[in-house]
Amino acid sequence: MTQAARPRPDAAHTRVSVVAPCFDEQEGLPALRARLTTVLDGLGCPWELVLVDDGSRDGTLALMRAFAAEDPRIKAVGLSRNFGHQVAATAGLDHATGDAVILIDADLQDPPELIPQMLDLWREGWDVVYAQRRTRVGETVFKRWTAQAFYRVLRSLTQVHIPLDTGDFRLMDRQVVDALHQLPERHRFLRGLVSWVGFRQTGLVFDRAERFAGTTKYPLRKMLSFALDGITGFSFVPLQVASWLGVWVSILAFLAICWVLWETLVMHGTVPGWASLMVAILFIGGVQLLTIGLIGEYIGRILDEVRQRPLYLVRERHNLAREFEALREAGRP
Ligand code: UDP
Ligand code: MG
Repeated sequence: MTQAARPRPDAAHTRVSVVAPCFDEQEGLPALRARLTTVLDGLGCPWELVLVDDGSRDGTLALMRAFAAEDPRIKAVGLSRNFGHQVAATAGLDHATGDAVILIDADLQDPPELIPQMLDLWREGWDVVYAQRRTRVGETVFKRWTAQAFYRVLRSLTQVHIPLDTGDFRLMDRQVVDALHQLPERHRFLRGLVSWVGFRQTGLVFDRAERFAGTTKYPLRKMLSFALDGITGFSFVPLQVASWLGVWVSILAFLAICWVLWETLVMHGTVPGWASLMVAILFIGGVQLLTIGLIGEYIGRILDEVRQRPLYLVRERHNLAREFEALREAGRP
């Protein structure tokens, strides 16, 4: 149990948005609509479904248009080309107007039936409810294994608490969606960004189903670039590797240089030229790694600056409404 920053509207007045990015999902879309409509109608509150077409090559967009024509609660956003899952999801979040916004995959691997439970936790005061998969069926051993390994590597490389084994299926409070909107970075690793914004977050365990229809839209190439976005977006460790290597190589080089001098000056057991060559190679190797590391440290900081993430986010204010308005008018925060 946690306390909501702002009181949650009662059930009849809660606006619920569901956002689903779709890329070539025509086979599954009618089933998605049917299952979501059943679940959302059962909530007894106004809702909207924001479908984003991420430049599909099949009939996805045509289906979305038809759905929107039949049901005003269904909104369709068609992107001009394929921008990738994370950007499509961002576009959907930007168009959602609900008090609580749920991001879901269009392939029904994320069960819509979990939504009422997510909303209950949100009502209890949680700002983010992420769905954590306990099992994944219908996926290759390779995908399962690489995904598990990835989340663990990422966790060890970053200070941001990114929960293990969670996808993008999650409920977010309006405040969190607005906060995400303040993060203009282009290489978006949404699940990391949602962790980064903070607020009160909790998990909900579920069993991930098989894809309802079609094939995965994440071939190995996309998965790798996604993993890189995750690591580079939330960790400077790879950039700092050269610094650490540089320190250790320099220490070893110093010891080796002592040994070379000992062999040459005291033992006289070496051929001419060997000592000077060894000293030069060891010394330069250490210096180079150290300076590359130094450059890496600066690049890391430049990366941080150009990302333009807000310095901090406020979850709640008390007795500050008037002052805050004045500040806002003055162009601050
Ligand atoms: N998706 C998208 N754009 C893309 C790739 C995927 O909008 O370029 C959508 C896709 O339609 C699905 C979701 O992102 O709703 C997750 O993709 P997928 O199910 O293929 O990934 P997997 O579950 O295999 O990791
Ligand atoms: Mg999927």
